[in-house]
Amino acid sequence: MAKLYFRYAAMNAGKSTALLQAAYNYEERGMAVVLLTAELDHRDGVGQIASRLGLSREAVTFNASHSLAERIAFAQQERWIAKLACVLIDEAQFLTSAQVQELHRWAHAYDTPVMCYGLRSDFQGNAFAGAATLLVLADDIEEMKTICECGKKASMNARFSDDGERIREGQQILIGGNTRYRGLCPDCFY
Ligand SMILES: [Zn+2]
Repeated sequence: MAKLYFRYAAMNAGKSTALLQAAYNYEERGMAVVLLTAELDHRDGVGQIASRLGLSREAVTFNASHSLAERIAFAQQERWIAKLACVLIDEAQFLTSAQVQELHRWAHAYDTPVMCYGLRSDFQGNAFAGAATLLVLADDIEEMKTICECGKKASMNARFSDDGERIREGQQILIGGNTRYRGLCPDCFY
């Protein structure tokens, strides 16, 4: 039985790298996958999933108003995929709760795994709606570990200005702008 998966981690844990590796593993065995990412992720231009190790691939984008079932169907048509083996979604924290519910239903209705990769909490330690719903509904949940600059496990995400100043106020989602994020352990975060 196919599942909805959630792989979450702090910033720079290698989520996109893991996603691209999973895509490669399927395709190496002759199975087709589709890749989706959030429209507002402009780190590498719209519609790219890029690993910090240097790999990148095109992806169909989604925004809050989309039906994910329709985006999957669109991605499948675009690549002439008759039989889909897996759906891989990057920046899954930007899914709405309703979209996560739709994906959960879809994975079970079509018996096709959906693997979501994303952050759990924002720069103020609040849940992203998509992540919160994934933590409730995903059939398989795993934390990907990464390390804080102090050596402890990083589980929080801090926002910094371009000149390295910590930013504690502002909107949850910033499009553009000169901000950076770093994964920190709770001790360093607070
Ligand atoms: Zn730390």
